[in-house]
Amino acid sequence: VLAKLKDPTLVHTAGLIGGKWTEQSSDKSTFEVRNPATGAVIASMPRMRADETRAAIAAAHSVFPQWRDRPARERAAILRRWHDLIQEHKGDIATLMTLECGKPTAEALGEIASGAGSVDWFAGEAVRVCGDVLEPPLRDRRLLVLKQPLGVVGAITPWNFPMSMITRKVAPALAAGCTVVLKPAELTPLTACALAELAERAGLPDGVLNLVMGDAPAIGHELVSSDTVRKIGFTGSTAVGRLLAAGAGQGVKRVSLELGGNAPIIVFADADLELAAKGVVASALRNAGQTCICANRIFVHDSVYDKLSDLVVSLVRKLKLGDGLEAGTSMGPLITAQAMEKVTGHVADAVAKGGKLLVGGTRAELPAPLSGGNFFAPTVIGEATIDMRCFKEETFGPLIPLFRFGADEEAVLLANTTEYGLAAYFYTRDLARAWRVAEELEFGMIGLNEVAITNEVAPFGGIKASGLGREQSKYGISEFLDTKYVCMGLG
Ligand code: ADP
Repeated sequence: VLAKLKDPTLVHTAGLIGGKWTEQSSDKSTFEVRNPATGAVIASMPRMRADETRAAIAAAHSVFPQWRDRPARERAAILRRWHDLIQEHKGDIATLMTLECGKPTAEALGEIASGAGSVDWFAGEAVRVCGDVLEPPLRDRRLLVLKQPLGVVGAITPWNFPMSMITRKVAPALAAGCTVVLKPAELTPLTACALAELAERAGLPDGVLNLVMGDAPAIGHELVSSDTVRKIGFTGSTAVGRLLAAGAGQGVKRVSLELGGNAPIIVFADADLELAAKGVVASALRNAGQTCICANRIFVHDSVYDKLSDLVVSLVRKLKLGDGLEAGTSMGPLITAQAMEKVTGHVADAVAKGGKLLVGGTRAELPAPLSGGNFFAPTVIGEATIDMRCFKEETFGPLIPLFRFGADEEAVLLANTTEYGLAAYFYTRDLARAWRVAEELEFGMIGLNEVAITNEVAPFGGIKASGLGREQSKYGISEFLDTKYVCMGLG
């Protein structure tokens, strides 16, 4: 399939250090990239470690002054060309993305539109960075505030959005005038390589964006402990986020962390139930349930529970599981065998504790070559309870557990009973309830009668164990800028 791309030169099985594609790691070791739909190996990549990371940091450091001093308009123009090239090659990028992470082509194209949207947005923001002049308390001095790029940024990204988690870090960093060392997930490096190739074609100078991959802990340690790297931008698990934040704390480095979620959807008695059922299924099963804002716990008012449950089950029955590259596939495979085990464990635990299996519940056996893939049937569990693992842990798979509630306060309490605080959703048509619940939910993002909440205009991020900082939006670029105060004495 790789050879059938319209532009096969988008494929690199290499890192990018100081503008040089580096196909071999210093000790010549490699790692394999697999198609989760078939288990087949699709590429072999260099397994880079500390040496390569140091070289990438040095490259990013050496070109930082030139990049910082380029007029913002020039940085913006390069970002716009990058955006245009991404759009031009979206078909090929979608193929690479589906091959390495399994999501259906339509979802891949959606992610590309969203990722390209970030690049375009931050091209616009690059020219709007501005400082301040403050009113001085004494007449013999003037007080100014400058906004300056941080320096070298380390970006570490996950496999579930192989493109958009990169663009929402790299685009604002470059727009601000920072240079970047990017470590994409080892499960999905090919999309990252294609993006870096297009950034080069857009005219990004050598060394401004570097790419290393391989031994994640070694690379992460180097990025976190380097004196040169001024900030770590990370999306991934809370466990790794804690580790990186602790390391960054030692070096007093800035961090943005976008970590796990355990998103609730509350369906109130007055909800539009058809809309709510569609929202539940779309949110819970996006990317086969493997997103940090996927609905993980569905709380349904007693009076509408049976109706909503029937609607959800009938929508789930219509889904077509298969290879994301095939037209008509609505849900692809899970990323790894471990992911299958986690969902299997959550289902078994729920059933053992009295949950009712309404549809799915097992591995889906598909004909060859998909028999080698990680397919789990989309699953709905009724009468779920708070002692179940699926209440406490993020399943990160296609499981929809339905919980009952009676009073509003109970629903909000249940929703907030989690260490996480990323996204939450609820369905109601009552205005007073809408305001009250939106204010009471302890999450960074709220969807009211809507689950498709992500876009480049809005601030993305969480509270509690879901992370720190905000990506995207007019707030996103400040994560890559220092505030410098200049006091000018007039003598
Ligand atoms: P997920 O469960 O989504 O794979 P991870 O936190 O394991 O979440 O992975 C997210 C990113 O963090 C990936 O790029 C992965 O390679 C990287 N990663 C994993 N372990 C470490 C580590 N010890 N230090 C730095 N990065 C790591």
